[in-house]
Amino acid sequence: MRLPSLLACLLVQGAVMAQPPAPSRLAPVRLGRMEVWALQDGRISLEASLLKDIAPADARRMLGGKDAASTPVNAFLVRMPGKTILVDAGMGSVPGEDSGHLEAQLAAAGVAPSEVDLILITHFHFDHVGGLVKPDGTRAFPKATLLVPRSEHRFWFQDPSRLPERLRGRTAILQAKFSPYETAGAFKTFEDGEELAPGLRAVVAHGHTGGHTVYAFASEGRELWCVGDLIHFGAVQFERPEVGVSFDVEGGAAVQIRRELFRRAAQSKTVLAGAHLPALVRIDAKGAGYAAVDVTPTR
Ligand SMILES: [Zn+2]
Repeated sequence: MRLPSLLACLLVQGAVMAQPPAPSRLAPVRLGRMEVWALQDGRISLEASLLKDIAPADARRMLGGKDAASTPVNAFLVRMPGKTILVDAGMGSVPGEDSGHLEAQLAAAGVAPSEVDLILITHFHFDHVGGLVKPDGTRAFPKATLLVPRSEHRFWFQDPSRLPERLRGRTAILQAKFSPYETAGAFKTFEDGEELAPGLRAVVAHGHTGGHTVYAFASEGRELWCVGDLIHFGAVQFERPEVGVSFDVEGGAAVQIRRELFRRAAQSKTVLAGAHLPALVRIDAKGAGYAAVDVTPTR
């Protein structure tokens, strides 16, 4: 019996040598004729003390006894017939942070940066625009048009002296992210609520920032909303949408739009893609709030 086992051993070795291990692939969620990938650029830690209008003991309990939530930073890739769209661009490489994985995640989805033809930005915080340019200052997505909400652009650029103090000084950093696209004639703004393409609409969701915007995709009766920072703490704010975070520039407006969009999303079984949620979800009404159901395919 030695020969067959030796043969089997050689065959196995041959098979291993002939086929290098496949790179891990990210599976998309399919909605109508859309394919959607959550691309995790990195992770950040959000302190429970950022939460507003909740007793600290309740926040701690809902966060599993912890004082902070380890939170993903996601961008989303949406492939529609004839269009490859990136929503947000992650943090980019930030020294000392778990960040800058967007390009590798895109490769795992089977897409090269040069295949992205449209980039949509929900708002201008660093963890959503950082990955627009490479460390050498050139465009990370050389063939893409960058599309940003005009209201968000006004909020940051019209009169920076009116920004909250902690945000002043960010405009120069932002400009460095946008300039390579402007120079290439690949930078555009749009109005609140505008239809950007068939099956793609910008939805006003101001509150987190002055022009924070949600992108609503539709195909064959299925809907996907890329909600940006409409929600930060999945373990808390689905169940209690009235709970805010201290860095919302207009806390009341942020709570109001979260409640409104959650109500509509639950009714329409819309899939929600949150920049700081661990998975793509749909939500069901539960008590005074909502329960989220993971719709990510099993790999
Ligand atoms: Zn964010």
